[in-house]
Amino acid sequence: MRLSQMYLPTLREDPKDADIESHKLLLRAGMIRMNVSGIYTFLPLGFRVLKKIEKITREEMDRAGYQETLLSAIQPKELWEKSGRWDTFGPEMFKLKDRNDREFCLGPTHEEYFTDLIKDEVKSYKQLPVHLYQIQTKYRDEKRPRFGVIRAREFIMKDGYSFDKDVAGMDESYKVMWEAYEKIFDRMNIDYKIVEGDSGAMGGSDSHEFIAIAESGEGVIAYSDSSDYAATDEKAKVVIEIDESGDPLEIEEIHTPDVKSIEEVGDFLGEGREKLVKTLVYEIDGEPVFAVIPGNRELNETKFFNALGVSDFEIEIASDETIKKAGSEPGFIGPVGLEGDYKVLVDERVTRMKNIIVGANKKDYHIKNVNYGRDFEATVIDDLLLVEEGDKDPLSDGKLHLDRGIEVGNIFKLGTKYSKSLEFSYLDENGKAQDVYMGSYGVGISRLVAAIVEQNHDEDGIIWPISVAPFEIIITLIKENDKDQVKLSEELYEYFTEEGFDVLMDDRKERPGVKFKDRDLIGIPYRITVGKRASEAIVEFSNRSEKINEEIDINELKSRLLSDKNK
Ligand code: ATP
Ligand code: MG
Repeated sequence: MRLSQMYLPTLREDPKDADIESHKLLLRAGMIRMNVSGIYTFLPLGFRVLKKIEKITREEMDRAGYQETLLSAIQPKELWEKSGRWDTFGPEMFKLKDRNDREFCLGPTHEEYFTDLIKDEVKSYKQLPVHLYQIQTKYRDEKRPRFGVIRAREFIMKDGYSFDKDVAGMDESYKVMWEAYEKIFDRMNIDYKIVEGDSGAMGGSDSHEFIAIAESGEGVIAYSDSSDYAATDEKAKVVIEIDESGDPLEIEEIHTPDVKSIEEVGDFLGEGREKLVKTLVYEIDGEPVFAVIPGNRELNETKFFNALGVSDFEIEIASDETIKKAGSEPGFIGPVGLEGDYKVLVDERVTRMKNIIVGANKKDYHIKNVNYGRDFEATVIDDLLLVEEGDKDPLSDGKLHLDRGIEVGNIFKLGTKYSKSLEFSYLDENGKAQDVYMGSYGVGISRLVAAIVEQNHDEDGIIWPISVAPFEIIITLIKENDKDQVKLSEELYEYFTEEGFDVLMDDRKERPGVKFKDRDLIGIPYRITVGKRASEAIVEFSNRSEKINEEIDINELKSRLLSDKNK
């Protein structure tokens, strides 16, 4: 491709509304453009990267025995009603009606559709397992679209589905996908961790997320320094030591004027923080629900919502009005003496703590020497805590550390959730009907474009790994009116193209400085500069990641790049 003929609208300045480096660089390098919030176009250069990411993913899916398909994005409401997700998916789902008022959604994912697709034709154990995938556009009306194509409302996903006879088959399919994902992300040179994930809206038993490590990532992962334990912060088990000593003392009300936050209460009472317990109130349809946790820790909302069996769009922080309705008082909330039959979820540790201090549900008062069982009870007792740096590893004596990252892939064991609700069963060897065991496997194809840039850039621009680079070689022609330079550039362009490289030639009538800046920005790995020594068949060569310029004879350059390619 010749740059003089290419549509490559680069920007000199950082775009104002771009929030993280990858977003800025993809806009500046003329790879993507925003249409409206969370809706993006891939321009020619960005599209080439997208295609390479797709190609790697496709090759590894095919190698793992999956067959590619293409289902429509538009899906009928009835399918989603059967699985129960028409309502539970919530406002993230784009819904629409046709001219006859029939309802549809723009698929945010395709579990229902794939199940429905094959269930009437796959009837016998002899036809299982089935492994299918697609690379297709997904629609999710995200609450906070941001970071460019990382959290978009229209994006490209590779979604794969496995259908097996039993748990053992599902486990095997899961393992095969796990290994395929390792290959996919290794080939893209991604620095990633595999962590246990929360199954959330998917349902099912087991899930893992592939997280590209990045400071700017929205996801937090916890991993052990001495075992294999690694999980998202939503999922990570919290193990903490509790002081269970002491006999229950007489309950006592204490006057704490204007002392509200847990820090203020601690300072005011001069008590060790470990005696303080905080109570948080949320509301579902105007009804309060309570979470009671140790005062020095944070609530894990995902664990709390899962324990309640609600999705995050169904629940919110309680208003003062709702708090008062339960006979409580904002700032002085506690689990003792609530008026009404409300759900009170208590962190397991709180049930073992002795003589704790809680809000008195009365303005300017707290109570001390409160004990679980004697003074209040729980609807549910569970681990409700958010993991912290330095927490104990649940699997060893080691510690957990936290890192940030971007989820680029996700694998789920779905079990029989969809086969049951959509009535997909098969006849086993004995002619008996059995449920099909499913798995679902996603790769964020368009998100990967940005995740890779997050991990590969410097102050001058993007540094594409060779496997996904839009072009592998850029030839910079310094003087487009110098015969020797033009001739050598053309020769090299033809040679490397013939040898199967993706070559870009900067033959524009621009100053060399402009050409150098642009090639830094768009991040092509191998750089050949054809300049004053062209008549001697000598060019300058450098690598985007190292930037060390060397003068090199073209024959040596040819053999070096060829041997690199064949490695
Ligand atoms: P997240 O926690 O980031 O919202 P998710 O758990 O909703 O992701 P899945 O439903 O598992 O995501 O989708 C599979 C993959 O699709 C994800 O691993 C991610 O890489 C990608 N993906 C999900 N949502 C988006 C989005 N809004 N924009 C771009 N890619 C996305
Ligand atoms: Mg999501």
